Amino acid sequence: MHFYDFGFDDDLLDGIDSMGYEYATPVQEQVIPPILAGRDVIAAAQTGTGKTAAFLLPVIQKLISEPHDKHKVNCVIIVPTRELAVQISQTLEGLSYYTAISSIAVYGGGDGNLFAMEKKALTKGADIVICTPGRMIAHLKMNYVQMDAVRYLVLDEADRMLDMGFYEDIMQIVATMPKQRQNLLFSATMPPAIRKLANTILHNPAEVNIAVSKPAEKIKQGAYLVYDEQKIPLVKYVLGQKQFSSVLVFCSSKQSVKRLTGDLKRAKLPAEQIHSDLEQNEREQVLLDFKSKKLKILVATDILSRGIDIEDIDLVINYDVPHDGEDYIHRIGRTARAASEGTAITFISDKEQGRFQKIEKLLGRPVDKLPVPEQFGPTPAIREGSERRGGSGGGKKRYNKFKRK
Ligand code: AMP
Repeated sequence: MHFYDFGFDDDLLDGIDSMGYEYATPVQEQVIPPILAGRDVIAAAQTGTGKTAAFLLPVIQKLISEPHDKHKVNCVIIVPTRELAVQISQTLEGLSYYTAISSIAVYGGGDGNLFAMEKKALTKGADIVICTPGRMIAHLKMNYVQMDAVRYLVLDEADRMLDMGFYEDIMQIVATMPKQRQNLLFSATMPPAIRKLANTILHNPAEVNIAVSKPAEKIKQGAYLVYDEQKIPLVKYVLGQKQFSSVLVFCSSKQSVKRLTGDLKRAKLPAEQIHSDLEQNEREQVLLDFKSKKLKILVATDILSRGIDIEDIDLVINYDVPHDGEDYIHRIGRTARAASEGTAITFISDKEQGRFQKIEKLLGRPVDKLPVPEQFGPTPAIREGSERRGGSGGGKKRYNKFKRK
């Protein structure tokens, strides 16, 4: 789903574009509409799923489109750690770069100067305050923070906050807010204590569960780091290395499916394609042939990545890096189903390195990088931390890609 489908303001779309986001992640797809509709939300989602933008985007949109008092605090985001406060603050800065939204992170540590700066900003008011509980309470005690206009409360990483003993602090902060407000709770896990907190704070919340299933242990995962033009020769090489009985190759676009299938066929490899440009009966026939093992290699778009149960696929190839971690897990989950074993190999081009690193973050570990045989020539170097960063890096340039004319 593209971001313009949410009906966001153009200035917000510019911020999204400058952050390098194109499609909403699953948590964003599920969480943004109920928040825009004014509902409370409880979401099970962990770091790496795009949960930060899932709550920031609709809150920014609401602040842009609804009149509010700029000299008061309108939204409070409570988080467990300074690091998370800084990270959210940076994401917010990037996403709201072209809007007039003001924000401040209040997270303790530092010297008296920092406290004084926070005090000044809180006294003046800020649309969005991102805070750790202890520091916020220190400011609240001094009576200069105007909390009577708070309309949005976000509790991020709520399970971690409870683990760290912040329940009382959270309740103390919440008690300073008006009762009429929208509440959003994000938590990686949903133990009973979180349910209790949710029952106390949320009203009839929409529930979203983005439980990221980890890939099965039996799947051997590997990746080749290559230049785009090396991908097709290397796919052919991999397919020629071993007698695979059933191979599923995923591409992110119909165009790459068509191109790759043509190339494999020209190399006399038994491959067919499946994507949404085919007639329904053609799709069914190809799938039937693949399931019955009459067809050995199937090149597909993500229409085949979810839900379809095909037994005994021994190799899944990601011809390009999927859009997000969920897609990756669904794609490679097509192999090693039930009792069988399987291999999943991803081809990462130079410009896809950042996206793959995000997937590895979600998996909680790096995927083995396989050596590319010498005959393919030099390959790109591994870039550390090549995730795109937003914030003021968005620069002054206006991005209008999403704008509807
Ligand atoms: P989070 O789960 O909020 O910590 O986000 C994980 C990473 O994904 C961060 O580096 C975000 O900047 C990035 N991210 C969030 N949403 C998107 C999106 N729709 N497309 C691409 N990257 C995203």
